[in-house]
Amino acid sequence: MVGRNMQSIRLGRVFGVPVYLDLSWFLIFGLLTWSLASTVYPAQLPDSPVWFNILLGAVTAILLFVSVLLHEFGHALTALVFKIPVRRVRLMIFGGVAELGDESPNAVSEFCVAVAGPLVSMGIAVVTGVIWLALPYLVDGLDPLIAVLGYLAQINLMLAIFNLVPGFPLDGGRVLRSIIWGITGSLRQATTIAGSVGRLVAVGFVGLGIWRGLSGDVSGGLWMGLIGLFLNRAAVAEISAQRLRDALTGRTVDQVMNQNVASLPSSLTIQQVVNAHILGQGQRVFVITEEDTPVGILSANNIQKVSPYRWQEAALSEAMTPLDKAAILSPETEIWSALRSFDRFQASILPVMGAGKLMGVVRRGDVIAYLQALSSLDNRVFNPR
Ligand SMILES: [Zn+2]
Repeated sequence: MVGRNMQSIRLGRVFGVPVYLDLSWFLIFGLLTWSLASTVYPAQLPDSPVWFNILLGAVTAILLFVSVLLHEFGHALTALVFKIPVRRVRLMIFGGVAELGDESPNAVSEFCVAVAGPLVSMGIAVVTGVIWLALPYLVDGLDPLIAVLGYLAQINLMLAIFNLVPGFPLDGGRVLRSIIWGITGSLRQATTIAGSVGRLVAVGFVGLGIWRGLSGDVSGGLWMGLIGLFLNRAAVAEISAQRLRDALTGRTVDQVMNQNVASLPSSLTIQQVVNAHILGQGQRVFVITEEDTPVGILSANNIQKVSPYRWQEAALSEAMTPLDKAAILSPETEIWSALRSFDRFQASILPVMGAGKLMGVVRRGDVIAYLQALSSLDNRVFNPR
């Protein structure tokens, strides 16, 4: 996640949702502007100068960007209506993604969130399409505007249709899953069926790609083949995640937690802890508390960031990684949801509280080791076939 942040620019917040632009988007912006300016617009506007077609291409590319943004906000705002947190909206080379902070609680919300994006694209296609068709009868001499509207109408229609293809991670995959989920009442069964349909669709894309390639359209065929391989990988990942969830059902945090952890008041100085606990007892990880409530995690890494000259006076509260209250686990928390907490809070260690007192910590590494042990007992967990 940190690596990805470095490759994207934060554009700001819309409805409280941060919007990020991936640097890879500039590549598509350049390619699209060039292809519109060199082939599409010269064919439709034969009298316009080169610089004008380049400008028009760039404006169109930005309007396509806005269309994709509106599609993603269709998902994001619908999620917010259902009280599902939205981490951010990210725009990149292959379009965009609305990253949700949680999974849909039920089939209805999953259906609405998934279908909202394609509906927005369809809406843009209809509005731009109607103006595109009507404008020539109303006003003269707006050919460039008409060309842009025509392009936007077509591409938004394509966006809506392509996204409704029933394969993960496309919106259509989620729509299909939510419908099966609604009918059968089982998310697990719905994921398996939707995943299998997704793999069939992927195979279809590869087959079509090969057919197109053999009939002379090599680049178009290659493109379809790549989409097929991508869809197949995503479907396998989705089925895999479901198997993992199944394997972890009923397995709780108390099976992986480390009870051998000291809790220290935040007012102690670093020097006191180094002397008494790290050198004295060889402990490496601590839960920092204020009035018996965990407020942070302290590891050797945290201490290294404070200059040794300041260890005498620096309090633990200054060196610790502060804790979000929501990140505190209980011994009965399912390991599956603990894994999601590690992800959400980008943490490597989380504290476990039970009956009002600290019971231990869970390290991400311990959970991974636990999963590896599970998968060596049952290799279908990580290698679905
Ligand atoms: Zn979408």
